[in-house]
Amino acid sequence: MRKKIVAGNWKMNNDKQETTTLITALKAKGAFNGVEVKIAPTAIHLSQAVTELNDSAIEVIGQNMHQATNGAYTGEVSVGMLQSIGVKSVILGHSERRAYFNETDEALAEKVKTAVAHDMEVIFCFGEELEDRKADNHFAVVENQLRKALFDLDSADWKYIVLAYEPVWAIGTGETASPEQAQEMHAFIRNLVEEGFGAEIAENVAILYGGSVKPANAQEIFSKSDVDGGLIGGAALNADDFFAIVQSI
Ligand code: PEP
Repeated sequence: MRKKIVAGNWKMNNDKQETTTLITALKAKGAFNGVEVKIAPTAIHLSQAVTELNDSAIEVIGQNMHQATNGAYTGEVSVGMLQSIGVKSVILGHSERRAYFNETDEALAEKVKTAVAHDMEVIFCFGEELEDRKADNHFAVVENQLRKALFDLDSADWKYIVLAYEPVWAIGTGETASPEQAQEMHAFIRNLVEEGFGAEIAENVAILYGGSVKPANAQEIFSKSDVDGGLIGGAALNADDFFAIVQSI
């Protein structure tokens, strides 16, 4: 059985006190019925979040990490630094990192390699822009992103990979892919993984959907057979909404 995962990407939101307040509200929510629940506060609050959630099933994950293990990379965070505070999973390839920080497929391939070499789970984000979809080019774009960043991995590395399909036109816009559009793309992605790495890996890899998931639309999206959960932005900043999304699986 594939994992079901709901991960909240807090992005550059919540100061120290707000981080504690949201964590306290999430902890009060109770059981998650077998769903892996993860939150990604900003880097300077990861350590605090790990401590505050040490008696909880909610896992704390990173929003990003550098491909080098150490060195002169001002402002960056390494895989070892994340692990030294108890973080075991990291988001890589988010469209905001690609668009605003020029993260290329090549750099992302290096980041993924560094992460898996250190037993770090990766939630790997990818997805097409609106123009790609309008031009009916979305499958080619997604295939290219996946091939460039993940297809040089060894089969054994795939146990660390979670995929997150996030059409850029649906992130923070209030637009969502329809459940049918999500399922169509997730099935395409699983098929691609099967071609590259075989049926077992394809069957076991969790593929999350991200892009304006809210309590009102989560259930319909999560009901699709190849959608194994969600990567949640805006709605992850509200404990009631995030918990409602978790319960929609
Ligand atoms: C995201 O940034 O990964 C995301 C899915 O954001 P939102 O839910 O706000 O669209």
